[in-house]
Amino acid sequence: MVIGLDLDDTITRHPAFFACIATALRAAGHRVVVITHRADPSDARRTLETLGVPHDGLHCQSRADRDRHGLAWKALVCRELGVDVMFEDCPETVRHIGPGTVCFVPFDPDWHRLEARSTGD
Ligand SMILES: [Mg+2]
Repeated sequence: MVIGLDLDDTITRHPAFFACIATALRAAGHRVVVITHRADPSDARRTLETLGVPHDGLHCQSRADRDRHGLAWKALVCRELGVDVMFEDCPETVRHIGPGTVCFVPFDPDWHRLEARSTGD
């Protein structure tokens, strides 16, 4: 399988868990790729090293890709790489990902509360 991991608010939410599953998945012959909206690969690579999360590929969104595809960019990358399972915290991003990729979204108890606060509900 190809497993996709978002970095911010997914891996960073529980680095020890993602270090463990990335190591185990790779040892079992699966491919682990990190797909992030961070534009700077050096910065993302440094964060992954610091958190101890091994991977087989790092995909950062360039400014051009951000302008062209916005939140749909990760869906394109998932399709290109044949990602079977994606861990992604942003529901707006998950909305674009096709049925060929199963998405797991970490629960964020503040997601709708923040929205409700900003609209006065
Ligand atoms: Mg994220």
